[in-house]
Amino acid sequence: MEFRDLKQQYQLHKTEIDTAIQSVLTRADFIGGGNVRQLESELGDYTGVKHCITCANGTDALQLALMTWEIGKGDAVFVPDFTFFSSGEVVPLVGAAPVFVDIDKNTYNISIQSLEHAIQYVIEKTDLTPRVIIAVDLFGQPADFDRIKQIAKKHNLLILEDAAQGFGGRIGERKACSFGDIATTSFFPAKPLGCYGDGGAVFTDNDAWAALLRSYKVHGKGTDKYDNVRIGMNSRLDTLQAAVLLKKLQFFDSEIERCNWVATEYTKYLSEIVRVADVKEGVYSSWAQYTVCFKNRTEREAAAKALKENGIPTAVYYKKPMHMQAAFKEYVMKDLDYSVTQQICDSCLSLPMHPYLSQDDVQNVIKIIRQIQEERI
Ligand SMILES: *Cc1c(COP(=O)(O)O)cnc(C)c1O
Repeated sequence: MEFRDLKQQYQLHKTEIDTAIQSVLTRADFIGGGNVRQLESELGDYTGVKHCITCANGTDALQLALMTWEIGKGDAVFVPDFTFFSSGEVVPLVGAAPVFVDIDKNTYNISIQSLEHAIQYVIEKTDLTPRVIIAVDLFGQPADFDRIKQIAKKHNLLILEDAAQGFGGRIGERKACSFGDIATTSFFPAKPLGCYGDGGAVFTDNDAWAALLRSYKVHGKGTDKYDNVRIGMNSRLDTLQAAVLLKKLQFFDSEIERCNWVATEYTKYLSEIVRVADVKEGVYSSWAQYTVCFKNRTEREAAAKALKENGIPTAVYYKKPMHMQAAFKEYVMKDLDYSVTQQICDSCLSLPMHPYLSQDDVQNVIKIIRQIQEERI
């Protein structure tokens, strides 16, 4: 069994994908080819956002957003304590201070209460100016944007939606990548919509920010790439990746539907014996990961071992809270509480999740976890 089965996906769609790749090779428009513009237009339509600007990866996408808003020295950016390193890494990269925020134990997303507390703390106890909330759609479930928007409005903050894992998710009819003032995603192969290498995109309805994003991603270009009006980056999605993504977008929704079937099965049979992610009413997850929590680290390690012995791969996303990463040492605010994140880092385990798991595969995973938990009782 594969943790995420990219080989089977390719075999099923080999003819169309090979043809798409071959036609880029024939045209030799490797950088900035027509497929890139077509993809930006289709991703804009898909998410319902006016501007989609592709770039080299999901980390650059986040950095480009912060550069566009001129976030820098003296600014505080709120980031969940439980996420991939990138969500926090980009903040010091632009010279600002990340302020880590504990998470909600049921959704794994940023805790609204802890966010309000952290903002208040920064205002009262530091010299930093609160500027941005980076809300991550962790494991595929969009964050609680209704309440995040209320808080952002109250404190005049910008919302940057990190939808690297959330692409394909929804709240009601609204798609992930449409909730932030700017939103970003990643096309790393293992993400919900993955390409065959690195890729990313930035989304916004704001015309002025879109223009700045297009400048920053091409060396701060003015009228063209040889007229440089600001310091920027070199961050582009290549045409081969765009060609692959255009093909994959055609069957993407049916893949996410199948992932939702897998998740429903897992939840039905596992929710009584381990803690499973709680997807809120009216919310649709893209299930980048299906993550359960055991009682403690020992139980987690025992389950991972039993699954491995039965040929079932698992992964721990994430072992270490952001505030414990050595790289962030100088930014840690010791008075803030991270007990939920700490507990989840010690007990979480992500199970195989992809559209090509069979009913037998899913039942097999369930059986092993039930067995080991029942032996314990
Ligand atoms: C993968 C990921 C990123 C970074 O994407 P890359 O394309 O690998 O740079 C950022 N944030 C989150 C939450 C991610 O999972």
